Amino acid sequence: MHKITKPKLFKIRSANQAKKYGIAAVTLKELIKKACHLLKVSSSGGQVCLYEDGTVVTEEYFQNLPDNTELVLLPEGQSWNGLVHEINQVLGLDRDADLLISAAKGLLADERSPKRRRILGDLLRNLRDNSEVESREDDKDWFQGIDARFKTKSAYMKYNCESRIRGYLKEVDGYTRSIPNAKTKSEYKKVVEILAEKLKAARYNGTYFDRSERDVHRLCTEEGWFTCQGAFDENNCTFLHSINPYGNRESRILFSTWNLDHLIEKKRAIIPTLAEALKGNKSGDINVDYFYKLLFTRENLKLVHIVCHKKGAHELSCDSRKIYKRVRRTVK
Ligand SMILES: [Zn+2]
Ligand SMILES: [Zn+2]
Repeated sequence: MHKITKPKLFKIRSANQAKKYGIAAVTLKELIKKACHLLKVSSSGGQVCLYEDGTVVTEEYFQNLPDNTELVLLPEGQSWNGLVHEINQVLGLDRDADLLISAAKGLLADERSPKRRRILGDLLRNLRDNSEVESREDDKDWFQGIDARFKTKSAYMKYNCESRIRGYLKEVDGYTRSIPNAKTKSEYKKVVEILAEKLKAARYNGTYFDRSERDVHRLCTEEGWFTCQGAFDENNCTFLHSINPYGNRESRILFSTWNLDHLIEKKRAIIPTLAEALKGNKSGDINVDYFYKLLFTRENLKLVHIVCHKKGAHELSCDSRKIYKRVRRTVK
């Protein structure tokens, strides 16, 4: 008496090609034989594994597989590490970026799921990477909307950093108005002038964003990659945030949401401490170097992705031993 077994349906592909074929078989042996024929692979020692995670299919396992399972045919000696293999293929496709871009665009065109749209959008943004070119002529799109005086990406990024740092100086200066005492106010003004001089001499620390700078002066790699340094109260960024504003226009614009965050806060701590320290004291008594470092240098600045920019109070205060030039005895 014959037991009639219905053939099972599968999708089969080889490890090297993404094209899938529908195939029907009653046993694993039959499946392998048919697949080898279909994919033009020698059948000796061949086996079949799950596309998802590379599990090798045995005859027993075969009987329990649901219809339409995706399988990969492996010639003798070859293995499949599942989706990891695919991701690797994509990452390795650097040189065929154009192909990938058009494929991703095609998928995006009829994709409705917001999640998948997001993933494809991110992929496209990362593929359109022109970070290796530097000049305006070579990447006109990157320079869209940027003043004509900037001829290179590095020059613009340097300016971008300078502007941020200048902004901090402006804030320090702006505080002058809110100091009621005339004597304190005039001493405060003098400190601001010294800070401005120092900052000008350091060219507003624009080198932090300039990839053409020497390693010690910049925050990015020589390719232009910036890595989030993590929230003020963390040692590093657990989200692995990174960005290359040199890569394309969108990344350049997105980079403006990244912040140079003051660990000891500018508004809540540094500026009020400076004003307070000047009450009844001369600008010459103040350790201006210390305040300079806190306000404008990476000693107190962390570059952070917006998610790692915590808005609450940092609860960190200036080091009272460093506020004045010499250690003062506090008289009670
Ligand atoms: Zn981060
Ligand atoms: Zn902050």
